[in-house]
Amino acid sequence: MQDEEQIVDHAAQGAVDLGNRIAEQNEQANLQDIADGLLSGAIHYWLYTREPCDDPRCPDCAPLRTPEWRLQALQQLVDELARSSEYYESPGDMTPGNA
Ligand SMILES: [Zn+2]
Repeated sequence: MQDEEQIVDHAAQGAVDLGNRIAEQNEQANLQDIADGLLSGAIHYWLYTREPCDDPRCPDCAPLRTPEWRLQALQQLVDELARSSEYYESPGDMTPGNA
């Protein structure tokens, strides 16, 4: 039985592995197109898993009861994941000194 953090890491690694496999099988493919497809699938999957249940008073689903609230939760998660990524900052980034 894997704990929650292990499942998250396992799913994230699986998405990266899938992207690498698609790139290897399609040498002409643009890596950004592969990434866009992976992200699209991830967003669809995430939204599917956040559909609120049929009980309008369910406390677990209350923060996800409208499409806009789900989108806000998704955007917050994307922000956190992007900022914690080792690729968030790049040596090619523009800095205030050379703007
Ligand atoms: Zn619920």
